[in-house]
Amino acid sequence: MLPDFIQPHADLTSRNSLALPAQAEFLATITSAEQLAAVARHPDLAGRRRFALGGGSNLVLTGDFPGLMLSMAIPGRELAGEDAQAWYVRAGAGENWHDFVQWTLARGWPGLENLSLIPGSVGAAPIQNIGAYGLEVGELIDHLEAVDLHTGKTTRFSAADCAFGYRDSLFKREGWHLTGRYAITRITFRLPKRWHPRTAYGEVSAELARNRIDSPSPQQLAAAIITIRQKKLPDPVALPNAGSFFQNPVVSAELATALATAHPQLPRYPQADGSVKLAAGWLVEQAGWKGRNLGPVGMYEHQALVLVNRGGAKSRDVQALTRAVREAVLARFGVNLVPEPVFL
Ligand code: NAP
Repeated sequence: MLPDFIQPHADLTSRNSLALPAQAEFLATITSAEQLAAVARHPDLAGRRRFALGGGSNLVLTGDFPGLMLSMAIPGRELAGEDAQAWYVRAGAGENWHDFVQWTLARGWPGLENLSLIPGSVGAAPIQNIGAYGLEVGELIDHLEAVDLHTGKTTRFSAADCAFGYRDSLFKREGWHLTGRYAITRITFRLPKRWHPRTAYGEVSAELARNRIDSPSPQQLAAAIITIRQKKLPDPVALPNAGSFFQNPVVSAELATALATAHPQLPRYPQADGSVKLAAGWLVEQAGWKGRNLGPVGMYEHQALVLVNRGGAKSRDVQALTRAVREAVLARFGVNLVPEPVFL
């Protein structure tokens, strides 16, 4: 007999922001770490595949899911502590990311404003170390808790344990988000009291200048970021999408120089380790895919990096467009784009 928070044959169409049709064999709505422990120890669920689902905003469902989908809905946000240097703010994995960021700002605890309007949940944020406009979430995580779904035990991971990298973490590197090894339950952020606005990105400084703001408050910076994102990114409710669809490629300095010789407009961002980050959206646009459709899916007209479902798309449509765009970019630039969402 399964606990009543587990539902068989659950429709996932409204639970993935690309709105791809699929079913989960079982769907558990998780509101506490204790429920995860119960799932881990339940004899009828032993050996079943698991996947922790946040907002479903970074996901391509390639078919029905034969196993237990854990819909992470653990609530809660609070000030967990404070010292002379920082506020420590704790949030449950199921909180909506953007709402949480705006709540911290309203309470007077700045730091996360550059990450406003990133879709998804708090619990998903560390997995790919979400980042935007010169800030990565890992910089502001103190520690997090996750339940080991083999044993049901809660484990604490410090920020150092998480081994954050560019859109990367231990959870992603080890594939734990795919195998359902750990489910992140709570995160404690360390928000330093000494605050500096991060405005170096061209779009951010331009938006502030447009509004004649020299020294932005955290709220003004958040408002600028929200304006920029709303201009470029489609609302998934109106036009289903999974945000940026390809990772920004990081290539060797030699390849970047060779590409820039052939394509002088190529945006290049040198990294501390000597490699060079390229803008995936620029490559997709130059390869001719901005605003272009293939069947019911396409690359968005205002931001070539976003794959959109124009209505009724199936997983095979998304996969066909993914292939076509990758082949076009490879043929023109010799760069292999890697999709950012999880293909499940
Ligand atoms: P964008 O602003 O057009 O920038 C494209 C690329 O240029 C990104 O790789 C960005 O690096 C880089 N870049 C731009 N200005 C830079 C600067 N001053 N210094 C260093 N690198 C610079 O990108 P977009 O697609 O519209 O996205 C806007 C922001 O949201 C970006 O920061 C992007 O990374 C972020 N974003 C994050 C996620 C995620 O966390 N999953 C998803 C979508 C977008 P960075 O990538 O290092 O910023």
